[in-house]
Amino acid sequence: MSAYKKILVAIDLTEEAPQVLEKARLLRDSHNADLVLVHVVEPVGYAYGGDIPMDLTELQDQLDKAAREQLKTYGQQYGVGEPDQIVTVGRPESEIHRLADDLKVDLVIVGSHGRKGFQLLLGSTANGVLHGSVCDVLAVRIKDST
Ligand code: AMP
Repeated sequence: MSAYKKILVAIDLTEEAPQVLEKARLLRDSHNADLVLVHVVEPVGYAYGGDIPMDLTELQDQLDKAAREQLKTYGQQYGVGEPDQIVTVGRPESEIHRLADDLKVDLVIVGSHGRKGFQLLLGSTANGVLHGSVCDVLAVRIKDST
């Protein structure tokens, strides 16, 4: 196996995210690779449905800001500089595929399950990322705290 050169780690900002980040740090260090962090903010309109016209821009901006702040904290903890802390808006699996392609990463790391896939062996995002990925994908087994 050749060494990974560029690793993208996708984090969902739940309390399990550090488990994924720890593994990403180990791999980054052992492969002497570059590490990029990404969090995808889902458009609030998706969850809300949009039956009543409402301006959700402010809420979206707040989510975006909170994500950037959390990524900054993780960046400091895990030694990832600001240019490699990416917050984007969209569907997580699509955005992760797009970034993996744009940034030419050779490994994507996700957690085995998070908020959406708690009862599943493999969460929906991990599953979605795995399907259609053109590079290796590592699903870090999340250990439930309960
Ligand atoms: P889930 O699909 O919620 O079970 O999440 C499984 C894993 O997918 C998480 O541990 C993260 O690595 C990744 N993931 C889920 N949602 C996001 C998101 N919004 N942004 C980036 N990564 C995510």
